[in-house]
Amino acid sequence: MATFGGMLDYLVIGLGLAGISFCERLEEKNKAFKVISDASQTSSIVAGGLYNPVILKRFTLAWKADEQLQLAKEFYQALEVRLGVQLDYPVPVYRRFNSIEEQNLWFESTDKPKLKRFLSPQIHPNKNISVDAPLGYGEVLYTGRIDTKKLVESYKEHMLKKDSLISESFDYNLLAIKEGFLQYNNLKAKKIVFAEGYGMMNNPYFNHLPMKGNKGEYLLISAPELKINFALKSSVFAIPLGNDIYKVGANYEWKDKTNEPTEKTRSQLAKKWESFVKCDYEIINQLAGVRPTVSDRRPLVGQHPEHKNLYVLNGFGSRGVLIAPYASGQLLSYIEDDRPLDADLDINRFKK
Ligand SMILES: Cc1cc2nc3c(=O)[nH]c(=O)nc-3n(C[C@H](O)[C@H](O)[C@H](O)COP(=O)(O)OP(=O)(O)OC[C@H]3O[C@@H](n4cnc5c(N)ncnc54)[C@H](O)[C@@H]3O)c2cc1C
Repeated sequence: MATFGGMLDYLVIGLGLAGISFCERLEEKNKAFKVISDASQTSSIVAGGLYNPVILKRFTLAWKADEQLQLAKEFYQALEVRLGVQLDYPVPVYRRFNSIEEQNLWFESTDKPKLKRFLSPQIHPNKNISVDAPLGYGEVLYTGRIDTKKLVESYKEHMLKKDSLISESFDYNLLAIKEGFLQYNNLKAKKIVFAEGYGMMNNPYFNHLPMKGNKGEYLLISAPELKINFALKSSVFAIPLGNDIYKVGANYEWKDKTNEPTEKTRSQLAKKWESFVKCDYEIINQLAGVRPTVSDRRPLVGQHPEHKNLYVLNGFGSRGVLIAPYASGQLLSYIEDDRPLDADLDINRFKK
C-alpha cells in the first residue's frame, strides 16, 4: 500500500487480539499502516481461546454475545483464508452440574428468550469412567476455540512479510504530537491506535482509565486415558487440544500482575483437575498472562479527550475472542465514518 509523502494513515501499537483485529479493519479499508509490538504482554498467546456466549456461573448471556458471535465467526473465517491456517476449532462446551439445583436452574434458563438458542435442553449423562460427573452435563451450543497463539504467530509473519511490523517496545517519550499528524522516530502517521493490553498501564495518554488487570494461568496436561472431545467446565475448564493434551485452567489472580507462572497456582489447578478427573496425567507445561480487565467489565474504546488523533482499543477482559471483531469494527467506523460508538464501550463513560 502506498504511503502519501511517507505519511501513514495509522500507527498501531500492540499485536494481540485487539491490534490484529484493528489491522484487519484497516486492510479492509486499504489504509496505509504500520504496527509496533513487543513481547511484554502474553494474554492473547496463552488464552484458552474459547468463544462461548454464555456465562457458566449463573447461566446468563455474556455482554452482547449473540451480536458478537456471528461477526466473530465471519471474521476468523476470513482470517483463515488470508493467513492460510486453521484457527477456528468448533468444540462443544459441557458444563458439569454440581447439584440438582444447578440442573433446575439450567432447565429454567433454557426457556429464557435470549438464552434458548445457546443452551441444549437435554442433559447429557456422563459415560466416561475417567470423569466424576454423576449429575451429568448441560451443553452450550455454537461454541468453539480459536487457536490464538497460532493467530498471533501467523499474523506477525504476515505483517513482517509486508514490512509492516516493527518488533520493539514503543517508547512513549519519543512520540511527538504535531499539528494534524504524529511523529515517532522516522515514522509519520495521521493517527495512532494504542492496543497494548495490560501494557496500557505504562501509557501516559490512557493510563487514567480504570484498568485492573487480572492474571490467569493454564496447565498443559497430557492424559491419554481421558479421551474427551468437548471442553469440560467444572471448577476449571479442561479444553481438548488434540493428541491427548488438555489446557486446564484458568485461575483469576488480582494482585500479581507478572507473566510468570507460579508453583502455588500449579498445585491449585492440579487439585481442581483431580477433583473431577480420575485418570493418570502429566503436567507438561504452564502458561501465564494478564487479562486486560476493566472495573465495569466493558471494553475501553475511543478517542483521547485532548489529543484527537490518539485512540485506544483495549479492555477485552476474559472475552477477547468474541469482543475483538466487534470492538475493532466500532472503532474504525467511529474514526472513518463518524458513527457514534456503542456507549457501553466508549471511554467517555468515565468522563467526570
Ligand atoms: C489465562 C488466560 C485465559 C484466557 N482465556 C480466554 C478465552 O478462553 N477466551 C477469550 O475470549 N479470552 C480469553 N482470555 C482473554 C484474552 O486473552 C484477552 O481478552 C485478549 O488476549 C486481550 O488482547 P489484547 O490485544 O488487548 O492484549 P494482549 O494480548 O496483551 O496484546 C497486547 C500486545 O501489545 C504489546 N505491547 C504492550 N505494550 C507495548 C509497548 N509499549 N510497545 C510495544 N508493544 C507493546 C504486548 O506485548 C502484546 O503483544 C484469556 C486470558 C488469559 C490471560
